[in-house]
Amino acid sequence: MNTPIKTTQGFDSLPLSPATLANLTQLGYTEMTPIQAASLPIALAGKDLIAQAKTGSGKTAAFALAVLANLNPRRFAVQALVLCPTRELADQVTIELRRLARAQDNVKIVTLCGGVPLRMQNASLEHGAHIVVGTPGRIMDHLTRETLDLSALNTLVLDEADRMLDMGFFDDIATVVKQCPAERQTLLFSATYPEGIDKIAKQFLREPQLVKVESHVSTSLITQHFYEVRRANRLEAVAQLLHHFRPISTLAFCNTKQRCKELVEVLQAHGFSALALYGELEQRERDQVLAQFSNRSCSVLVATDVASRGLDITQLEAVINVDISPDPEVHVHRIGRTGRAGETGLALSLASMDEMGFVGKIEQYQNSESVWHKLDELNPASNEPLLPPMVTLQILGGRKEKIRPGDVLGALTGEAGYTREQIGKINVTEFCTFVAVDRAIAGEALARLNAGKIKGRSVRVRFLEAS
Ligand code: ADP
Ligand code: MG
Repeated sequence: MNTPIKTTQGFDSLPLSPATLANLTQLGYTEMTPIQAASLPIALAGKDLIAQAKTGSGKTAAFALAVLANLNPRRFAVQALVLCPTRELADQVTIELRRLARAQDNVKIVTLCGGVPLRMQNASLEHGAHIVVGTPGRIMDHLTRETLDLSALNTLVLDEADRMLDMGFFDDIATVVKQCPAERQTLLFSATYPEGIDKIAKQFLREPQLVKVESHVSTSLITQHFYEVRRANRLEAVAQLLHHFRPISTLAFCNTKQRCKELVEVLQAHGFSALALYGELEQRERDQVLAQFSNRSCSVLVATDVASRGLDITQLEAVINVDISPDPEVHVHRIGRTGRAGETGLALSLASMDEMGFVGKIEQYQNSESVWHKLDELNPASNEPLLPPMVTLQILGGRKEKIRPGDVLGALTGEAGYTREQIGKINVTEFCTFVAVDRAIAGEALARLNAGKIKGRSVRVRFLEAS
């Protein structure tokens, strides 16, 4: 799991129930993260809040604990709504809320996002929901159809508000907020603070308190190297860096979608397993890309800032800035993805002559001089392909078929005879399941799963190739 930087303050200084405190200890949440320490006292006191801290700093728990504290499980009505920009972020929030809600009886949480038939969501809503997590578009659909009633709502959360603005959701948010009772608590969380946030705050929040945790405190464990490139060799330089440093997982940032596509082509031609993540991918494609990258069966994820924002990607050995960001805050945010939890991280930045001005801004912002290295000092001998340690098998069958991670793990460690260590992440989505297995056993595991059964049924399994 991904552990963010923590404070020395425990959760026991907060007005939380003993059961909640015990659950936090069980989850390994012994100390609060800085954003939690700054925002929880305000949120638990029922006040409106704007909280800004970088990705991976524990913002979800900072609002989830307040949402859960405001909840009366004996009252059958939607009491909290969490708006998220994308389905995968909504899924992440739901998972975290469920973990934190374990201490309370019968808290019902429903996720409402596109890509799932409305009628299936109506069924979940009819069973009663205390908390709804969803994307603005789908929430509006339910409000228009009157399948969702927000009249008993007491807490509204706008999560990843900067990204919702980037995606043009302002009007949708306004439409949803208008259907919430005026008497409510509103909590806004964001990784950055673009102008639009003030507009949201003025319209939807009441005398909000502002808390901000600066992001440049945590870059000390990150080794930053800058390389000068020419326009013509920029993409080849990325391949050189990967051959030289051989990181298991790398997030490569590009300023445009076009550049992402070009880089993935170049890297794949060099034999790397690389995938692109950008705005207009279909949800199903995004799910596949993220599953493969986070389970370590894809070496390089090439992404734009918008596409990667908010994603809880663990274990990242390196970040490569294929282009330098014109915004120094974005640069620091990008490189902060590596070097988490006291591990050292590597941040490699490629700059052409016309980007030197941006590098200067970054130096000023970080108050430190850049360290420059030369591409021709990189080891040219290590042209061995860089293979990811795992391979993803895709099982055609998911939540709809009631498959759970334990069923897949059971099939592989039981009948098929593998050890727990040979199996990686298991991701169950609506219609299919991704399981990572050790590269050395991949072919055999595929054959065994295809020949065997999961939940008493035969399943179809195939390789999901990351290049
Ligand atoms: P953000 O929303 O700020 O990007 P998340 O809420 O996704 O961050 O949290 C990042 C990771 O940190 C998650 O894996 C979460 O489980 C973990 N985490 C959050 N709070 C704590 C804590 N107090 N102690 C340990 N781990 C934590
Ligand atoms: Mg978040």
